[in-house]
Amino acid sequence: MWITFFSGGFGPPFFCAKSLAARPPLCYTNRKMLYIVVTPIGNLGDITYRAVETLKSADLILCEDTRHSAVLFARYGITAPVRAYEKFSESRQADAIADMIESGKNVALVSDAGTPVISDPGSVLVRRLRERGLEYTVVGSGCAAVSALVLSGFDASSFCFVGFLPDKEGDRNRLMDRFAGLRSTLLFYVPPHDAVRDAAFLFSRLGARKACLVREISKLHEDVIDFTLPDIPADAVLKGEMVLVVEGAPDPAEALLALDVKEHFARYVAGGMTEKEAMKAVARDRGVSKSAVYAELKGSRS
Ligand code: SAM
Repeated sequence: MWITFFSGGFGPPFFCAKSLAARPPLCYTNRKMLYIVVTPIGNLGDITYRAVETLKSADLILCEDTRHSAVLFARYGITAPVRAYEKFSESRQADAIADMIESGKNVALVSDAGTPVISDPGSVLVRRLRERGLEYTVVGSGCAAVSALVLSGFDASSFCFVGFLPDKEGDRNRLMDRFAGLRSTLLFYVPPHDAVRDAAFLFSRLGARKACLVREISKLHEDVIDFTLPDIPADAVLKGEMVLVVEGAPDPAEALLALDVKEHFARYVAGGMTEKEAMKAVARDRGVSKSAVYAELKGSRS
């Protein structure tokens, strides 16, 4: 049995010598990657031990506002170099930061308060790292759904927590009646033995949307598995705890633009427009002239 004594105040936990020797490390700060570190939203005491250790050992800390974070850093003796990382310069900075991580630097990202990416800078950087196959993780969240959203790189500007899908088909369908049309990223809790079944069910209700399974967050085998519903890769390890993240319903205008002109036109006519109105609407959606739409339709009819 592990006996843990806390040192009091906000300091790190103190373990008795016997347990310390056998315990796995609490910090994995030796791996070169981006650490997305959750900081307190108010009380400076609400920070995790691993978050403090990660910030202390970073080669660089990216801050939304370095002056704001200085208060937290002073409180915990964090002296790592800092640099401003703001929403407005995210795209410009993302590649340079990815280069640093690729070259073996240990970079941490904090926002002024709480979880980076959630209504704060970070999403562009996460997406860039994913595109470049570089490692990143989240340190210190207390909610699996929020951590999964951050790790997924999916749109975090609007999201909806659905939780576990009910077992009964009718209950699942009723639940999804509420969420299927939402244009927000959807977050599901999934027992590992139900992952394939849940992905198949969601495909039947949502179509072939982009999805990912975020497994074992903050543990040794943390993993993000990307796929398109319902095709979870055959070699995916479906063990441990996992969150299923599914992209929101497509913007109807974008969905129409994915069709060819004839199908786009047919959708409007099927919806009750006259052919003249439909042609005008198609021209407006696609940013072309009515005569171009007419020529395209005529061409496809002949
Ligand atoms: N209260 C918890 C929270 O704030 O996330 C969730 C409790 S819920 C009963 C348990 C579910 O959360 C798991 O089945 C899994 O879907 C998700 N979960 C919990 N820990 C996780 C982890 N480390 N990685 C991925 N998902 C996790």
